Amino acid sequence: DFGPDFAALRAQFPALAQTVRGRRLAYLDSAASALKPLAVIDAMSAFDSRDYANIHRGVHALSQRATDAFEAARQTVARFVNARSADEIVFVRNATEAINLVAASFLRPRLGAGDEVLISAMEHHANIVPWQLVCESVGARLRVMPISDDGLLDLERLPQLLGARTRLLAITHASNVLGTVNDVAALTRIAHARGVPVLVDGAQAAPHLRVDVQALDCDFYAFSAHKVYGPSGIGVLWGRAELLVGMPPYQGGGDMIHTVSFEGSTFAAPPARFEAGTPHITGAIGLAAAVDFLQGIGWEHVAAHERVLLAQAEQALQEIPGLRIYGRAPGKIGVIAFNLEGVHAHDLGTIADASGVAIRSGHHCAMPLMQRYGVAAMARASFGVYSDAQDVAALVAAVRQAQAMFADRR
Ligand code: PMP
Repeated sequence: DFGPDFAALRAQFPALAQTVRGRRLAYLDSAASALKPLAVIDAMSAFDSRDYANIHRGVHALSQRATDAFEAARQTVARFVNARSADEIVFVRNATEAINLVAASFLRPRLGAGDEVLISAMEHHANIVPWQLVCESVGARLRVMPISDDGLLDLERLPQLLGARTRLLAITHASNVLGTVNDVAALTRIAHARGVPVLVDGAQAAPHLRVDVQALDCDFYAFSAHKVYGPSGIGVLWGRAELLVGMPPYQGGGDMIHTVSFEGSTFAAPPARFEAGTPHITGAIGLAAAVDFLQGIGWEHVAAHERVLLAQAEQALQEIPGLRIYGRAPGKIGVIAFNLEGVHAHDLGTIADASGVAIRSGHHCAMPLMQRYGVAAMARASFGVYSDAQDVAALVAAVRQAQAMFADRR
């Protein structure tokens, strides 16, 4: 737990101070988007108020200041994931765009008919569909690593699935539904031993654990700012420098070129090569403030706090008859997906909302995973650094209330 400092930490999130539907807000949807602390809101506001101008192209003072701040943000993000160099940090719109960039610029030129891309059964659509699109365009095929009922990867199947035709392993670091944290370092060792590069979808891991791309030894790592307490509209692709330099541009336009003539163009070195057009400049400033904020709390505290809340919530929810929790992996992140017998997940979400409890219900952009568990939808509560025992109590009360309401109707 964060101890006596916890009240001060919560006070840094202005959104938490409001009532929703006349009740104290219990924001349990941080896996979709985390709330923003004042450190982020203020950094963006100060930048927009004083320093904002377009970057990289101006010799005037504001443009230089904005450029310096934007590039300093890149350095901050490089340290956040322990990249060897800030040149390995490509600013994109979100994790989804990072994955699409790799699909188009890295995979596509290496993929032929009959080749394979290996993913897992717990992937978000963002780590399924981009591969599907490239595979379809060249006659390659997607293969899927299965998971156990508890939501763990079936690693025994890996040697069979990682074949001579595998051109990429694309795996999530942490599941947005099951909460499972995959052993990416081990997976990468196995894949690399067979010459297979690895992309990691870090959208859900980045807010919860220290990311060290050198320790993971993966080749690409994707995440979104809005899940690490930063703004939406900006995300990060970390890529191994040796791979980025060999990749063709993703989009064409300003800022990504070296020279342009009507006969042809030459392209800038990474990361500029992959950043065509004016980026979300203020977003980069907000992202840097967000990761500074998160690291300022300390990863041990983030993990310990989450572990306590998860245990509290799981225990209380389990006592509700007919409630099933999906995902039982040890060391999971603060995400609980569940269903209550006789009550649709959407009704659970609506009833919870009526008492100020924000949860998510639906397929969570993981329809194949829903299929794996034989359901159309799940309800999901997810924790952030500001979540507390009162949030958990409000969630449990709302679920019990939903059960009582639906029991009356039978
Ligand atoms: N991967 C995972 C595991 C996610 O949870 C999400 C967001 N729900 C994404 C990818 C996509 O993130 P974004 O929508 O920010 O691109």
